Amino acid sequence: MNDRVLIVGSVALDDIKTPWAGEKNLLGGSAVYGSMAASQFAGVDIVGVIGDDFPQEHLDLLSRAGVNIDGVERQKGKTFHWGGEYHENMNDRTTHFTELGVFAEFDPKIPASYREDGFVFLANIDPELQLRVLGQVKKPRLTLLDTMNLWINIKRAELVEIIKRVDAILINEDEARLLFPSPSQAESAEKLLELGVSRVIIKKGSNGAQMFSKQGTFAVPALPLKDVKDPTGAGDTFAGGLVGYLAGCGRCAEGSSPEDIEMAFRQAMIVGSACASYVVEDFSTRRINNITKEKIQQRCDQLYASISCDPVVIK
Ligand code: AMP
Repeated sequence: MNDRVLIVGSVALDDIKTPWAGEKNLLGGSAVYGSMAASQFAGVDIVGVIGDDFPQEHLDLLSRAGVNIDGVERQKGKTFHWGGEYHENMNDRTTHFTELGVFAEFDPKIPASYREDGFVFLANIDPELQLRVLGQVKKPRLTLLDTMNLWINIKRAELVEIIKRVDAILINEDEARLLFPSPSQAESAEKLLELGVSRVIIKKGSNGAQMFSKQGTFAVPALPLKDVKDPTGAGDTFAGGLVGYLAGCGRCAEGSSPEDIEMAFRQAMIVGSACASYVVEDFSTRRINNITKEKIQQRCDQLYASISCDPVVIK
């Protein structure tokens, strides 16, 4: 097992509209956002599929970021194309179209050189495909799963099956409620933990994220930003920063104590939130294409300061 991160998900072209601007044919996809963030902290191997319309410059961008793209297959046909529009609050969005293109026949093949990767992030794709990926890797140290409402609605059984087999799930608050209806987020999280997953990380857009595990709960805010241009990929970037940090920090090695792993996850949530705070400041991956570790550190420090205070002692 090595300390690299394997990310399997969508590689996409996106059309994005906000109340103030819009752009078409942008580089997007869950695996793209995830790997751009993760590559700041660890070696990243990406698996996905693209059509013959996918610009070479996007692949070059991933390579320049240090992402190994040997597992990105180019097939005849169109690249997965997604169109979304954000509402005034920049949290809620409407999907206008999802054109699967070559993604419809996607059958992820994990190259032999990726199978020893210690950290696996199953970014948002069909849970059946996520199950196939797990069947091809050796014994990763940590497996993380993301999903979306579409799969909860149309492939619930397969989704539950994969949740049972991973270490952590990242899910947004509406999706958690859709999967396990309850007015209480804690109850939805508890139902997820009962399936056997060790950690549930609930993403709440501009309200940050909360982790539930046997060790208790931990919440990280989102940085209060004045100028959000495009929230697309914030969740995937959060996840990529989180898994990349876990792989690079050395606290999740073979034999690490549960306390060490808990602390690593808490730190990783701050890192994920810092990465996500940058990606939303411009369309597509532009803002994180040339981001530095120093910049990420600055925002981690801001986030850390915003959740720290002296212990409270009631007298
Ligand atoms: P996020 O904003 O983190 O939820 O992720 C947005 C990205 O997810 C976009 O770049 C889309 O291309 C991608 N996406 C949208 N729908 C799907 C889908 N059904 N399967 C996989 N990826 C998707």
